[in-house]
Amino acid sequence: MSSPHPIANTPDHSGLPDSILQILTGMLPPSRPMALHEPVFGEHEAEAVAAAVRSGWVSSVGPEVTAFEAALRGITGAAHAIAVSSGTSALHLSMMGADVGPDTEVLMPAVTFIASANAVSYTGAIPHFVDAEPEQFGIDPVRLRHHLQDIAVKRDGLLVNRITGRRIAAILCVHVFGHPARIVELRAVADEYALPLIEDAAACLGSRQDNRHLGTFGSIGAISFNGNKIVTTGGGGAVVTDNDRIAARIRHLATTARLASPVGDFVHDVVGYNYRLPNLNAALGLAQLTQLDAFVETKRKLAQRYKDAFAGLKGLRVVTEAAGAHSNYWLNALVLEGPLAGLRDNILRVTQQAGILTRPLWHPLHRLPIYQGAPRMDLSVTEDLHARTINLPSSVSVLGAPG
Ligand SMILES: *Cc1c(COP(=O)(O)O)cnc(C)c1O
Repeated sequence: MSSPHPIANTPDHSGLPDSILQILTGMLPPSRPMALHEPVFGEHEAEAVAAAVRSGWVSSVGPEVTAFEAALRGITGAAHAIAVSSGTSALHLSMMGADVGPDTEVLMPAVTFIASANAVSYTGAIPHFVDAEPEQFGIDPVRLRHHLQDIAVKRDGLLVNRITGRRIAAILCVHVFGHPARIVELRAVADEYALPLIEDAAACLGSRQDNRHLGTFGSIGAISFNGNKIVTTGGGGAVVTDNDRIAARIRHLATTARLASPVGDFVHDVVGYNYRLPNLNAALGLAQLTQLDAFVETKRKLAQRYKDAFAGLKGLRVVTEAAGAHSNYWLNALVLEGPLAGLRDNILRVTQQAGILTRPLWHPLHRLPIYQGAPRMDLSVTEDLHARTINLPSSVSVLGAPG
């Protein structure tokens, strides 16, 4: 008779989706649907938002915004934190802070949420897709260097893509699922080519590499506080940087580029943005931040739970952090080995029908019609990861009691 965990690398893998469902059903609490990632709120959060309403400070300035920025400086160790309306606006401001502009190229992965590429495109720049490494899904620094050796030339002191003739303006590194990408090596490549390194650390509050917070390895980092991240402000984001000039410029751009005036005149020196975080949202964020350490701990426990639960099942691996990393394990992920990739959609269907909201990896960005013409290197690892990866429910509430 069949054991509860049939060995998957036998010729017949058809039992694997059911085995995976059985494991998930056994370890997840019974509430259905079980979201991929939902926020956890207690009375503390409700009180904080109510207090902000009562204070009258609900909009884009207020004491909670100031306190939230100070708390973010404390957590990340960055000299500056600018609270903004979303992770996407944080990324857009980061691009502008790094002088990414029209008809330049930004080296970035195709394994990411669309917002990373949107931010590049908003500036008129063009994403130039580079491949991922298969362990933590970040840009592969070795192959990035080889690619640059292949296509990059110096012209009039600028780094240029000799195939397209466009200036290469920056590297945008994405830390996927909360795990540090190979950021120390990526920083070395960026330095070698004198390129600004921008980090999409959108999902990475509380994640560190070598005891240093993500978002602080490059010149600018972007964080998100969307409802699906480890800590939420409802919607929101932040830019972190150690560079005083960049911080001042980003704050200025985020605040409609309004100049100081002794009589409160409305004078703006460039086209600016209304990208500041409202005080209401900052109040919620501040209340959430008091639980960040506990959330990270719970999510790391959940990741270990998944690792143990799937250890007996051959033919798949659970994505884990690299050496020296302390990940917030934002999203857990299963990677199907070898021919088992063919079962991905079946596993997604079986689990989703049971109310466990698993999800495939983001569709590779270079395969979206809007980016079909974008320059790229060989993206076979990206394609392969997309075919084999399944995200698993990862909310703090899966293990922890709310509040
Ligand atoms: C969430 C996320 C974003 C966008 O953040 P928003 O606050 O939703 O705009 C960008 N990049 C990655 C990798 C993300 O996970």
